[in-house]
Amino acid sequence: MTKIQSINNLIQQRKETRLVESHNDLAPNVSTVHAEHSTNPTGELSFATKAAESDEPKNAQAATQETSNQIRQERSVEIDRSVAAEIVNRSKMPQYPGLDRWILVEKLGYGAFSNVYRARDSTTEFGEVAIKVLRSFQMDINQRAKILNEVQIMRNIDHPNIVKLIDFFESQQFCYIILELCTGGELLPQIVRLTYFSEDLSKHVIVQVAKAIEYLHETSGVVHRDIKPENILFLPAPFTPSKNPKPQQPGDEDKEDEGEFTSNFGSGGIGEIKIADFGLSKVIWDTRTGTPCGTVGYTAPEIVNDEQYSKGVDMWAMGCVLYTLLCGFPPFRDESIQILTKKIVCGQFMFLSPWWDHISKSAQDLVSHLLVVDPMKRYNIKEFMEHPWIRQADEETIFTVGLSPLDQRYGPMSQTYPQPLKDVVADQGPCQPVSAHILSVPST
Ligand code: ADP
Ligand code: MG
Repeated sequence: MTKIQSINNLIQQRKETRLVESHNDLAPNVSTVHAEHSTNPTGELSFATKAAESDEPKNAQAATQETSNQIRQERSVEIDRSVAAEIVNRSKMPQYPGLDRWILVEKLGYGAFSNVYRARDSTTEFGEVAIKVLRSFQMDINQRAKILNEVQIMRNIDHPNIVKLIDFFESQQFCYIILELCTGGELLPQIVRLTYFSEDLSKHVIVQVAKAIEYLHETSGVVHRDIKPENILFLPAPFTPSKNPKPQQPGDEDKEDEGEFTSNFGSGGIGEIKIADFGLSKVIWDTRTGTPCGTVGYTAPEIVNDEQYSKGVDMWAMGCVLYTLLCGFPPFRDESIQILTKKIVCGQFMFLSPWWDHISKSAQDLVSHLLVVDPMKRYNIKEFMEHPWIRQADEETIFTVGLSPLDQRYGPMSQTYPQPLKDVVADQGPCQPVSAHILSVPST
């Protein structure tokens, strides 16, 4: 799934995940009607299921009531489900050749050619890690080259907000990338869980992402090119319930309490942020010479410009992430891929009322400077870091400075839904020329 698609699915997922979770939050493969935990002869915990038994319930409503009482009772039994799940999962873990040192514990995620596991170091040197297992036997030479590129880039990176590479090795059929473990997982389900993030929590997250990007762009000569909530991981932080819950905003009906914000720990249980997945990353300049890759005297202007364009890809993505954190849905959405594409090319996004009404003008201003179609006019990482919302200064920003005519028409000041965007797109025809970089899936 592309970045655009995955971000576009967020609103839908936000609702659907809640629905599924609320109806199905017992362990996988366990009937939602009734589940019993039992210990089998080998001592492993197993789950047995059976249908709810009722003595001829008077009516369907009573039966439903009885069933939900049973589920509640099940939940109230104090069973450490994470331990149970770990035991069950461990017995299901595959055996990979050459991975003897690492004990796979749980599957964390997967990609087209990879599975990612939580694993324990049997020598205890590294404790728990994440292992990305890539099926190299299914890959062609280019795909394999991408893996080596990912590993090579990660080898030269050392930053607290970037997942660290611990080791890399190969068997005949598989490549293994051993990584620092981010126990909190991806940011995406947290946005779904909390509906949207407060400005404090959004800032806590995006500043750490920005520090990672600043390091990549300014120190390492690397562009990430795949910044999205799925590739932003975190370490959990202590949670303190809100002392004075804030007044409800539109869409807050099922928002979970984000808790008290503390500057070191964040809130909502979201602590340290680490960006992951350098599978699409690219080296843009040589760290030894500080110049674009290649022989300087022979470098074409488009190569030099490419550095600026490439960095801009990360800044645009940061704009999309920040927008999404603040309101809970992505800036560009449409069921039709053609219309969605057009909206992105034209930079057509809105700060929709009522969802954006309570969000500060300064935060909106920052988003507006990131979601700028022309990469040369888009904020770079230095400008981002200097923005008042980031520096937490109270100073007012001049709101519409630097906005494209489209932004000014439908952008930050819009407090109500404008005419349907389909009509807007049809009306406008082709928009101003835009760099193909914005839409092209980055190639390595
Ligand atoms: P892909 O290129 O297939 O997207 P990723 O490197 O993004 O591979 O890993 C896929 C998923 O695995 C991530 O989105 C995340 O859920 C999980 N994951 C990857 N690395 C880690 C890690 N270091 N700690 C915890 N989970 C991880
Ligand atoms: Mg990924």
